[in-house]
Amino acid sequence: MHKPYYIFITGGVLSGLGKGICTASIGKILQWRGFKVEPIKIDGYLNFDAGTLRPTEHGEVWVTYDGGEIDQDLGHYERFLDVKISKINNITSGQIYWQVIKNEREGKYLGKTVQLIPHVTDEIKRRIRQVAEKSKPDFVLVEIGGTVGDYENAIFIEAARQMRMEGEKCVFIHVSYVPIPKHLGEQKTKPTQHSVKMLRDLGIQPDFIICRSEKPLDDVRRKKIATFCDVKEENVISDPDVDFVYELPLVFEEQKLAEKILSHFNLKPPQTLAVKKRWEGLVGKIKSLDKKVKIAIVGKYFDIGNFVLADSYISVIEAVKHASWHNGVKPEIIWINSKDFEKDPSKVSVLDEVDGVIVPGGFGSSGVEGKVLAIKYCRENNKPFLGLCFGLQLAVVEFARNVCKLEGAHSTEIYPNTPYPVIDILPEQKDILEKSKYGATMRLGEYPAVLKKNTLVWKLYGKKEVVYERHRHRYEVNPEYHQTLQSHGLVFSGMSPDGRLVEFIELPNHRFFVATQAHPEFTSRFMKPNPLFDGLIKALSVPKP
Ligand code: GLN
Repeated sequence: MHKPYYIFITGGVLSGLGKGICTASIGKILQWRGFKVEPIKIDGYLNFDAGTLRPTEHGEVWVTYDGGEIDQDLGHYERFLDVKISKINNITSGQIYWQVIKNEREGKYLGKTVQLIPHVTDEIKRRIRQVAEKSKPDFVLVEIGGTVGDYENAIFIEAARQMRMEGEKCVFIHVSYVPIPKHLGEQKTKPTQHSVKMLRDLGIQPDFIICRSEKPLDDVRRKKIATFCDVKEENVISDPDVDFVYELPLVFEEQKLAEKILSHFNLKPPQTLAVKKRWEGLVGKIKSLDKKVKIAIVGKYFDIGNFVLADSYISVIEAVKHASWHNGVKPEIIWINSKDFEKDPSKVSVLDEVDGVIVPGGFGSSGVEGKVLAIKYCRENNKPFLGLCFGLQLAVVEFARNVCKLEGAHSTEIYPNTPYPVIDILPEQKDILEKSKYGATMRLGEYPAVLKKNTLVWKLYGKKEVVYERHRHRYEVNPEYHQTLQSHGLVFSGMSPDGRLVEFIELPNHRFFVATQAHPEFTSRFMKPNPLFDGLIKALSVPKP
């Protein structure tokens, strides 16, 4: 059996500390030294996967190449580490209990009483080791979601404790919060002390504590945390607010975190740090950018109470950033709730003030007509437009209604009795929906598209014949309307290999009007923007004809 080094990352004090970014950054600094790293995210919720979670509930649903609908943290891992991560790398309580109960029903426990320990912990350990066995990394990074003290994640922490007891080579990193209360104006370490105390109650003494705080940790607090939490002073790591998340690996580098982790295991790095240079260079370049581009994201999953939840579109936002930085511009993202256009269609002229428009993925009828109005505005006003999944479907609806003059054309997802169902359900999806089998049943994961020569999309993808992007949809451009749409000037720039599904569309004689049935945001990386986002940003810097 493959024996990697395990890095367990737990969280303390409060959620939303950026443990995922921490985990990705630790992976990065080890990767820079030539190690193969494999991250795992554990989620305590009972949902089997994130596929049925509303984006405003738990952030965006990340889609893996092999069709997993999983936690958005896996997206951070891919963007930082530039590796493809399988759906087996996301473990939820739902999956664990499902398997344990299935085993019990199949008589696999031979009449034993089935219990949290050992049966549930054994299943957790099996799942963690399965990832190690499959990809044979040097390091497995296991991020245990939630906060120490939650009922939900205690059993996972117990499984980690058992792995150490069973002789696995483990290091425990606790990511905690050090607040600076306004009325005191100084960093307070007590919440961290309490959280480590709770972790110890579960049998884990952390080897490192990473302290999230607005400001860098000062020496006085570092000493205090070291003393009270029984961690070496040099292993108390400062994680202050940074301008953008890709800086964090460099913040850890300054504190020699990788060397400290390696020395914990008595390891020497196999490689020099040459590859780090490009990352450092890009971070430096971003800091000096001043030319701005304004991109509107016209969506609907924005408001929860008074907060704007950018998490719902995190991969789209990151893809815009990657492409912008790559092209030497600073993106300013403007959030537009498409429902605003429905209340007052004249408001669509706010798009005048932005350089480009993105209509991202979505489900259901709310805000749809507002999105259609935005797309019409882009088409008629030569405004650069990128449509993603639902964005493609609504671009087709708009084109059918206003160019092909198919009045009332729609997607059957929104209006089942439309006279012109230009977007219709994939035939294989009909039965699935009738039986309400919603979980993990969309057209999911990576699929190939054959590109049409000499189209813009073909050029953007480096003139490749076949390209792969990730999908998550049940509806498609209805083949009965392919001919009508094309004869009115809509170009199908990429099709599924059997020629049945429209994967990419574009409009010639437009600055940039491109949409895809896929979600290209999932293949965008910090150092490697996705070609469609890159194309959009490049189009913005070409002066309007
Ligand atoms: N609701 C549409 C479908 O199911 C689009 C999905 C999406 O944007 N991911 O096909």
